[in-house]
Amino acid sequence: MLIAIEGIDGSGKTTQAKMLVKWLKRAGYKAKLTHEPTKMCTGKTIYKVLHGKLKMSKTQLDIVYTTDRLMHYFYEIAPYLKKGYVIVSDRYKYSGIAYGCAKGNRKFINELEKNVPEPDLIIYLRIDPRSSTSRLKKKDAYEKDIKFLTKVSKEFDRLRRRKNMITIDGKKPIDEIHREIISIVTKKLSKHVK
Ligand code: ADP
Repeated sequence: MLIAIEGIDGSGKTTQAKMLVKWLKRAGYKAKLTHEPTKMCTGKTIYKVLHGKLKMSKTQLDIVYTTDRLMHYFYEIAPYLKKGYVIVSDRYKYSGIAYGCAKGNRKFINELEKNVPEPDLIIYLRIDPRSSTSRLKKKDAYEKDIKFLTKVSKEFDRLRRRKNMITIDGKKPIDEIHREIISIVTKKLSKHVK
C-alpha cells in the first residue's frame, strides 16, 4: 500500500511521515519511509535549481519533477510494494500537481502527472501559509513566498474532492494529528487486499 503525505512547506509532512512509519513498524508491518525529491540525479537537479545553483525554465523543471517522481516510483516504491511493504511517501504526485499548477502550467502538469501511478491513500495536512512558514528556519525558493504558497494551498483545496484524499487540520498538535492518521491508516489497511 502506498500512502502519500501531502501539504505545503512546514505543514508537518516529514514529522508525521516519520511517526507513521515508526508506528507501522511497531504494529508489525513492513514499512518504508520515502521522500520527494529523491536523492537520485533527478532529485539533486531539483535541489540545485531551488537553491539557485542551476538555471532552467519552468517547463524544464516541471519535466524533471515528474521524471524524479517516476524514478522514485519505479526504483524506490514499486519493488517494495511487491514485497508487501507499506510505503509512506513524504510528498508525491499531488504535491507535483498543486505546486506545478500554482506556477501556471496547469494543462501541461496534468498531462505529465497522468503518467504517475496513483497512491492508495493521500493524507493532506491543511494549514495556512503564514502559520506553516513561521515554523520553518531555513527558507528555500518556495518557503520565502507566502503569496505563492497561498496559490499552492488553493490548488490543494481543489484536489480535496478526490475520494482517496483525506484532509487533516495541520494546525492541531503533533500527537493529535498522529492519532488521526493512525485511525485513518488502520481502517484503510483492514480493507486493503495484500
Ligand atoms: P514539512 O515536512 O511539511 O515541511 P516538517 O514536518 O518538517 O514540515 O515540520 C516543520 C517544523 O514544524 C518542524 O520544526 C516541526 O517540528 C514543526 N511541526 C510539525 N508539525 C507541527 C504541528 N502540528 N504543530 C507545531 N509544529 C509542528
